[in-house]
Amino acid sequence: MGRVVQAFILVLVAVLPAGTSIAAQETASARVRLIATGGTISNREGGRLTAKELIELVPNLTNYAQVEAEQFANVSSSQLTLNQWLQLSQRVNHVLAEDPGLAGVVVTSGTDTLEETAYFLHLTVRSERPVVVVGAMRNPSTLGYEGAANLQQAFRVAAAPQSRGKGALVVLNGEINSAREVTKTDSLRLHTFATRGYGVLGLVDRDGVVYYRDMLRRHTYRSEFDLAGVTELPRVDVILVYQGASGDLIESVVDAGAHGIVVAAAGAGATSGTQNEAIAYAHKRGVFTVMSTRTGSGRVIPRQLPPLEQGMPEGRRLNIAHRIAAQDLAPLKARILLMLALTRTSDVTEIRRMFSEY
Ligand code: ASP
Repeated sequence: MGRVVQAFILVLVAVLPAGTSIAAQETASARVRLIATGGTISNREGGRLTAKELIELVPNLTNYAQVEAEQFANVSSSQLTLNQWLQLSQRVNHVLAEDPGLAGVVVTSGTDTLEETAYFLHLTVRSERPVVVVGAMRNPSTLGYEGAANLQQAFRVAAAPQSRGKGALVVLNGEINSAREVTKTDSLRLHTFATRGYGVLGLVDRDGVVYYRDMLRRHTYRSEFDLAGVTELPRVDVILVYQGASGDLIESVVDAGAHGIVVAAAGAGATSGTQNEAIAYAHKRGVFTVMSTRTGSGRVIPRQLPPLEQGMPEGRRLNIAHRIAAQDLAPLKARILLMLALTRTSDVTEIRRMFSEY
């Protein structure tokens, strides 16, 4: 190797920040708590695996972390209630607060609604230590079960010091995605979890846990959402926009007691049929609406109220005055942020601030 090349490599190594080291150190002595909630990862034919049985599946686990296990639930992800969400977040917060030496927490979940549970934890766990959410696409009785491999990777991510401060992380298939952005993109394939538009935060490979991106938006230890005194989450529904959609669905959820509605709008915020009038109906009754996009990625841009002289119909003006833009949050994530926002405020300006900070 020429001297110039050698010198260049030396300079490069010297200027790389610690977090980008190529083979990040694994910490076998790090303690990690597994909190199991169920899902396909434990759905063995003839009886679901318990949290303890799950950790026994991972070969040479003590090379990576010291794992303690507890069972929170053992159900499909879509069966978890909003009250269980509150309890799960309170449990994770409690476990981290009572044990300052714990490196991180791993939560198993069914994959169907995993992205929602993970984002809820991302906004409500008040700690810099990682919360890693993991699942599997094949059950333990299926040839090619990948649950043990995913679990091993999740434990390694939770044990890794470089995972601190990144919020809730979703680990499957050797990839680390942020809970804020990850989506299940395929109903059956193993590579289903992806972050459309931005890509993975990092990878779990043979040589270690490596990050290539960081989270800029507020979460976990920088979050203002404190569930300590919260006993119930406000009802927020998601309404899809499609050609000719009737606004009476929106009116129904308002009449049923929703405090907020997330509209999964066409393109960058369009509604169809009679939905616009129904959104005005919601606003008149104090129900907040957040406009998000049904496209799967991209932003809905916050709008300024146009000056009166432009002659805009009153209903449309009202909608713009009340409208909250989800920006780049997918409809299901925007619903969670709106639910949490409504536990703290009923001021539209405050809710808009939250949508631009989280
Ligand atoms: N139906 C399962 C669930 O979400 C799917 C899975 O775990 O992958 O619980």
